[in-house]
Amino acid sequence: MLMKYIDTVLCPICKASRLWKLDADFTDERIATGTVTCQNDHNWYVQEEVFRLDRENSDEEMIFLDHPITGFPPQIDEKVRGDFMIAFSRYVREYVESSEEPLIIIGSPVLFMKYLPETNRDLIIINSSEGILRQVQEIASSKRLYKQVSVIRAENVEFLLANAQRIYIFDGVPETLDKNETGLLLHRDASADVLWEKDNYIFMKK
Ligand SMILES: [Zn+2]
Repeated sequence: MLMKYIDTVLCPICKASRLWKLDADFTDERIATGTVTCQNDHNWYVQEEVFRLDRENSDEEMIFLDHPITGFPPQIDEKVRGDFMIAFSRYVREYVESSEEPLIIIGSPVLFMKYLPETNRDLIIINSSEGILRQVQEIASSKRLYKQVSVIRAENVEFLLANAQRIYIFDGVPETLDKNETGLLLHRDASADVLWEKDNYIFMKK
Protein backbone atom coordinates (compact mmCIF):
# COMPACT_ATOMS: atom_id res chain seq x y z
CA MET A 1 0.00 0.00 0.00
CA LEU A 2 1.47 3.32 -1.05
CA MET A 3 1.86 5.70 1.91
CA LYS A 4 0.52 8.64 -0.02
CA TYR A 5 -2.91 7.02 -0.27
CA ILE A 6 -3.27 5.93 3.35
CA ASP A 7 -4.63 9.23 4.57
CA THR A 8 -6.99 9.57 1.62
CA VAL A 9 -8.87 6.46 2.77
CA LEU A 10 -11.94 6.97 4.93
CA CYS A 11 -12.10 4.62 7.93
CA PRO A 12 -14.85 2.09 7.10
CA ILE A 13 -16.37 2.36 10.58
CA CYS A 14 -16.38 6.04 11.49
CA LYS A 15 -15.63 7.61 8.11
CA ALA A 16 -13.00 9.72 9.82
CA SER A 17 -10.05 10.44 7.62
CA ARG A 18 -6.55 11.85 7.95
CA LEU A 19 -4.41 11.46 11.02
CA TRP A 20 -4.06 7.74 10.54
CA LYS A 21 -1.40 6.56 13.01
CA LEU A 22 1.03 4.00 11.71
CA ASP A 23 2.89 1.24 13.51
CA ALA A 24 4.43 -0.52 10.59
CA ASP A 25 7.39 -1.60 8.47
CA PHE A 26 8.09 0.50 5.44
CA THR A 27 9.75 -0.21 2.13
CA ASP A 28 10.49 2.91 0.13
CA GLU A 29 7.21 4.80 0.18
CA ARG A 30 5.17 1.73 0.88
CA ILE A 31 3.72 0.22 4.01
CA ALA A 32 4.52 -3.49 4.06
CA THR A 33 3.18 -4.93 7.31
CA GLY A 34 1.70 -3.27 10.38
CA THR A 35 -1.24 -1.50 11.92
CA VAL A 36 -2.99 1.63 10.73
CA THR A 37 -5.18 3.39 13.30
CA CYS A 38 -7.75 6.05 12.51
CA GLN A 39 -8.27 9.14 14.67
CA ASN A 40 -11.06 7.33 16.53
CA ASP A 41 -8.78 4.37 17.35
CA HIS A 42 -10.09 1.78 14.89
CA ASN A 43 -7.24 -0.58 13.99
CA TRP A 44 -6.65 -1.99 10.52
CA TYR A 45 -3.94 -4.34 9.50
CA VAL A 46 -1.60 -4.37 6.51
CA GLN A 47 -0.16 -7.79 5.70
CA GLU A 48 2.57 -7.91 3.04
CA GLU A 49 1.15 -4.77 1.45
CA VAL A 50 -2.49 -5.89 1.46
CA PHE A 51 -4.48 -3.27 3.40
CA ARG A 52 -7.26 -5.25 5.07
CA LEU A 53 -10.20 -2.90 5.40
CA ASP A 54 -12.95 -5.49 5.57
CA ARG A 55 -12.42 -6.44 9.22
CA GLU A 56 -10.86 -4.56 12.08
CA ASN A 57 -7.75 -6.11 13.73
CA SER A 58 -7.47 -8.65 10.93
CA ASP A 59 -3.92 -9.93 11.36
CA GLU A 60 -4.31 -13.57 10.25
CA GLU A 61 -1.78 -15.31 8.01
CA MET A 62 -1.61 -14.40 4.35
CA ILE A 63 -4.26 -15.92 2.12
CA PHE A 64 -3.51 -17.21 -1.37
CA LEU A 65 -5.63 -18.83 -4.07
CA ASP A 66 -5.05 -22.58 -4.46
CA HIS A 67 -4.85 -21.99 -8.21
CA PRO A 68 -4.47 -18.66 -9.96
CA ILE A 69 -7.58 -17.69 -11.90
CA THR A 70 -7.57 -16.89 -15.62
CA GLY A 71 -9.80 -13.89 -15.04
CA PHE A 72 -11.75 -14.84 -18.10
CA PRO A 73 -15.44 -13.99 -17.61
CA PRO A 74 -17.65 -17.11 -17.62
CA GLN A 75 -20.43 -15.05 -19.20
CA ILE A 76 -18.54 -15.08 -22.53
CA ASP A 77 -18.62 -18.39 -24.38
CA GLU A 78 -15.34 -19.96 -25.45
CA LYS A 79 -16.22 -19.79 -29.14
CA VAL A 80 -16.18 -15.97 -29.13
CA ARG A 81 -13.41 -15.62 -26.56
CA GLY A 82 -10.64 -14.53 -28.94
CA ASP A 83 -12.83 -11.89 -30.49
CA PHE A 84 -13.90 -10.58 -27.10
CA MET A 85 -10.31 -10.40 -25.88
CA ILE A 86 -9.33 -8.15 -28.78
CA ALA A 87 -12.15 -5.73 -27.94
CA PHE A 88 -11.44 -5.87 -24.21
CA SER A 89 -7.70 -5.30 -24.53
CA ARG A 90 -8.27 -2.40 -26.91
CA TYR A 91 -10.66 -0.80 -24.44
CA VAL A 92 -8.26 -1.27 -21.51
CA ARG A 93 -5.49 0.46 -23.42
CA GLU A 94 -7.66 3.42 -24.43
CA TYR A 95 -9.07 3.80 -20.96
CA VAL A 96 -5.72 3.65 -19.16
CA GLU A 97 -4.16 6.12 -21.59
CA SER A 98 -7.06 8.59 -21.21
CA SER A 99 -5.87 10.08 -17.89
CA GLU A 100 -2.88 10.44 -15.56
CA GLU A 101 -4.93 10.41 -12.34
CA PRO A 102 -4.90 7.52 -9.85
CA LEU A 103 -7.07 4.65 -11.03
CA ILE A 104 -9.25 2.68 -8.62
CA ILE A 105 -10.22 -0.78 -9.88
CA ILE A 106 -13.16 -2.70 -8.42
CA GLY A 107 -14.80 -5.93 -9.57
CA SER A 108 -12.76 -8.45 -11.57
CA PRO A 109 -9.22 -7.08 -11.86
CA VAL A 110 -7.22 -10.05 -13.21
CA LEU A 111 -7.96 -9.75 -16.93
CA PHE A 112 -7.67 -5.96 -16.76
CA MET A 113 -4.23 -6.27 -15.13
CA LYS A 114 -3.08 -8.80 -17.72
CA TYR A 115 -3.96 -6.40 -20.53
CA LEU A 116 -2.76 -3.26 -18.78
CA PRO A 117 -0.43 -1.30 -21.08
CA GLU A 118 2.77 0.25 -19.83
CA THR A 119 1.71 3.22 -17.71
CA ASN A 120 2.90 5.68 -15.07
CA ARG A 121 -0.48 5.78 -13.37
CA ASP A 122 -0.96 4.70 -9.77
CA LEU A 123 -3.41 1.82 -9.44
CA ILE A 124 -5.51 1.02 -6.38
CA ILE A 125 -7.15 -2.39 -6.59
CA ILE A 126 -10.04 -3.23 -4.27
CA ASN A 127 -11.33 -6.77 -3.93
CA SER A 128 -12.86 -8.84 -1.14
CA SER A 129 -10.67 -11.85 -2.06
CA GLU A 130 -7.14 -11.62 -0.71
CA GLY A 131 -6.17 -14.50 -3.02
CA ILE A 132 -7.13 -12.42 -6.03
CA LEU A 133 -5.22 -9.44 -4.64
CA ARG A 134 -2.10 -11.60 -4.22
CA GLN A 135 -2.46 -12.72 -7.83
CA VAL A 136 -2.79 -9.06 -8.86
CA GLN A 137 0.44 -8.27 -6.96
CA GLU A 138 2.20 -11.01 -8.92
CA ILE A 139 0.93 -9.71 -12.25
CA ALA A 140 2.02 -6.20 -11.26
CA SER A 141 5.50 -7.50 -10.39
CA SER A 142 5.82 -9.33 -13.68
CA LYS A 143 4.88 -6.11 -15.51
CA ARG A 144 7.27 -4.02 -13.39
CA LEU A 145 4.32 -2.02 -12.09
CA TYR A 146 4.64 -3.10 -8.49
CA LYS A 147 5.66 0.32 -7.16
CA GLN A 148 2.52 1.89 -8.60
CA VAL A 149 0.08 -0.62 -7.18
CA SER A 150 -1.85 -0.54 -3.89
CA VAL A 151 -4.22 -3.37 -2.98
CA ILE A 152 -7.05 -3.20 -0.46
CA ARG A 153 -9.15 -6.10 0.80
CA ALA A 154 -12.71 -4.78 0.96
CA GLU A 155 -15.97 -4.67 -0.99
CA ASN A 156 -15.53 -0.98 -1.67
CA VAL A 157 -13.61 1.94 -0.14
CA GLU A 158 -14.26 5.68 0.07
CA PHE A 159 -11.34 7.97 -0.69
CA LEU A 160 -10.63 11.66 -0.58
CA LEU A 161 -9.22 11.67 -4.10
CA ALA A 162 -11.31 14.15 -6.04
CA ASN A 163 -9.89 13.41 -9.48
CA ALA A 164 -9.24 9.69 -9.26
CA GLN A 165 -10.97 7.53 -11.83
CA ARG A 166 -12.89 4.51 -10.63
CA ILE A 167 -13.69 1.56 -12.86
CA TYR A 168 -16.03 -1.31 -11.99
CA ILE A 169 -15.21 -4.39 -14.03
CA PHE A 170 -18.04 -6.85 -14.74
CA ASP A 171 -19.15 -7.15 -11.08
CA GLY A 172 -20.83 -4.78 -8.67
CA VAL A 173 -21.42 -1.93 -11.13
CA PRO A 174 -23.66 0.60 -9.35
CA GLU A 175 -26.94 1.73 -10.92
CA THR A 176 -25.69 5.30 -11.21
CA LEU A 177 -22.13 6.44 -11.73
CA ASP A 178 -20.56 9.86 -11.27
CA LYS A 179 -18.43 11.59 -13.89
CA ASN A 180 -15.16 9.92 -12.84
CA GLU A 181 -16.68 6.45 -12.71
CA THR A 182 -16.99 3.82 -15.44
CA GLY A 183 -18.70 0.45 -15.38
CA LEU A 184 -17.95 -2.44 -17.74
CA LEU A 185 -20.84 -4.82 -18.29
CA LEU A 186 -21.29 -8.21 -19.92
CA HIS A 187 -25.06 -7.94 -20.08
CA ARG A 188 -27.33 -5.60 -21.96
CA ASP A 189 -28.11 -2.32 -20.23
CA ALA A 190 -30.15 0.49 -21.73
CA SER A 191 -27.94 3.16 -20.16
CA ALA A 192 -24.66 1.70 -21.49
CA ASP A 193 -22.80 1.85 -24.82
CA VAL A 194 -21.90 -1.22 -26.85
CA LEU A 195 -18.14 -1.82 -27.12
CA TRP A 196 -18.39 -5.27 -28.69
CA GLU A 197 -21.17 -7.65 -29.66
CA LYS A 198 -21.19 -11.07 -31.24
CA ASP A 199 -23.89 -13.73 -31.39
CA ASN A 200 -25.70 -13.34 -28.08
CA TYR A 201 -22.72 -11.93 -26.21
CA ILE A 202 -22.14 -8.29 -25.41
CA PHE A 203 -19.55 -6.02 -23.77
CA MET A 204 -20.82 -2.61 -22.71
CA LYS A 205 -19.55 0.53 -20.99
CA LYS A 206 -21.46 2.99 -18.87
ZN1 LIG B 1 -12.43 4.90 12.47
